[in-house]
Amino acid sequence: MDSHDIQAVEDILRRGLETYGLTRRTGPGAVPKLAQYCRSLLDKNREMNLTAITDPTDAANLHMLDCAALLNCAQLEGKTLIDVGTGAGFPGMALKILVPSLEVALLDSLKKRLDWLDQLSRELEVSGMRAIHGRAEEAGQDPALRERFDFATARAVAGLPLLCELCLPFVKVGGRFLAMKGVGCDQEVDGAQSALRTLGGRVERCVDYAIPGTDVVHRVVIVEKTAPTPPKYPRRWAKIQKSPL
Ligand code: SAM
Repeated sequence: MDSHDIQAVEDILRRGLETYGLTRRTGPGAVPKLAQYCRSLLDKNREMNLTAITDPTDAANLHMLDCAALLNCAQLEGKTLIDVGTGAGFPGMALKILVPSLEVALLDSLKKRLDWLDQLSRELEVSGMRAIHGRAEEAGQDPALRERFDFATARAVAGLPLLCELCLPFVKVGGRFLAMKGVGCDQEVDGAQSALRTLGGRVERCVDYAIPGTDVVHRVVIVEKTAPTPPKYPRRWAKIQKSPL
């Protein structure tokens, strides 16, 4: 990305945050940092598989502004959040930049991507972010991580029934799991009801949003953690796949 691209990305982000009504909440530092995030992402993507998106405008819209929509679904300021299957940092890293007071844990089973995110956080001078290398179904049994977070998030990781077993164990009772989905996820939501009953959660509401500057509409399924997750969950990966809840 050259300086012209950076300027164009900053304009898209500024306009998008304005459309979401988030300009005041995110502060002046967020847009340049998100633009730098776009640049690093697309540069690094030439040597490491981080994203299928290669165009700066698409990266600004379909990654950064897509993730920013979560700010209209929850008050994240001063809270703790774990992003399960963060990949190149979506939505966790983008949220951390948008809400500096949010403490973020980025969890992924692929160490190379986490190492890049660590380096990026130093470049962007982002503090209050930690990268956790591991599988969600194992990390969810770690007492240091279990039921320790106000929020869990996941985008493009798995279907909702399975995702609930991976994500809800991290969330404190009274906290929320924010699942980023397409608008055609009604069946997934229906199919997750029995898993939610077992794991101590309920769908509080779904929020549909249009990504500014595009005709893409996505959905956030907001799951409230209503009771402690029974200790046997999450189960081992083979068991989760063989006998979904
Ligand atoms: N959330 C990112 C996004 O929206 O761009 C990445 C999505 S990518 C398709 C899925 C990511 O989830 C990969 O980085 C993969 O390594 C990670 N992942 C899949 N299953 C996982 C598990 N059980 N525990 C931890 N990470 C997992």
